[in-house]
Amino acid sequence: MFGLFAAGLAAASAKSGQVPGQPARKAVSGPAPAVLERTGQATQAAAPQSAAGTGIGSGQAVGVIPRAARFIVVLDAAHGGDDGGAKLNGTTAEKTVTLDLSVRLRSLLTARGFQVVTTREANVNLDNDARAQIVNHATYGFGGAACLVLHATRAGSGVHLFVSALSPSNPTRFVAWKTAQSGYVTRSLQLASALNSALERSAGGQDSNAATIPVTLGRTSLPGMDSMTCPAVAVEIAPLRDSNRRIVTEVADPHYETQIVEALAAAVLEWKTDSMPDAHPLGDRP
Ligand SMILES: [Zn+2]
Repeated sequence: MFGLFAAGLAAASAKSGQVPGQPARKAVSGPAPAVLERTGQATQAAAPQSAAGTGIGSGQAVGVIPRAARFIVVLDAAHGGDDGGAKLNGTTAEKTVTLDLSVRLRSLLTARGFQVVTTREANVNLDNDARAQIVNHATYGFGGAACLVLHATRAGSGVHLFVSALSPSNPTRFVAWKTAQSGYVTRSLQLASALNSALERSAGGQDSNAATIPVTLGRTSLPGMDSMTCPAVAVEIAPLRDSNRRIVTEVADPHYETQIVEALAAAVLEWKTDSMPDAHPLGDRP
């Protein structure tokens, strides 16, 4: 769960489809802006050599797709190490559930040809700045990206989607570290809309065991996510409850987790197709 959980959840239930008032989804291109690090110094985000070499004469091998035409997914399993997060049902720690979701989603996306980076693969300490640095480094120079920050909670029901509460701004060459996400808020809202649609669609498919998952969309201030320079959404998994608000499905229920990670993977594919219409529909392969 988040420190500022209550602030975000006041939002209305999300509607399917395009976010009202937002422009049509556009392909993202060009390098990410430099980010003002915490020292106040303007620094260009570090990038592997290949990031710059997307033009003619850059010496790229035939068959290598330029980074600007490629798409990457970053999964950030919240908490870890000394920070256990919320206690979900007496024994299960949030940090364990978020890592489990990250590992399962990574496997699913990798099997479908996506390039995936995770902020952690084990029970380790990782502060918010380190998470944002991993995300920004991984997505630098990519034409399309989706970052999912994974949380879990015992409060509420279904899946809570949160987009940064920062006001949208035009991406500029230099942006402040603590508000770097502001240039991406519009696209983060569109990514949240795609996630919402996929979660709503996930019930009533071929799998008769699939439950209807209530989804809420909120805005919140989340220190790590507010520094991310890519479309980013916090996905918080809550239990399923009956009409008396009693828990009928715990967060760690394997079938429930499967339904959620499959819906998230479907949303990422839809998001990639919509945000990068010229890209190959299945992953990064030519
Ligand atoms: Zn959390």
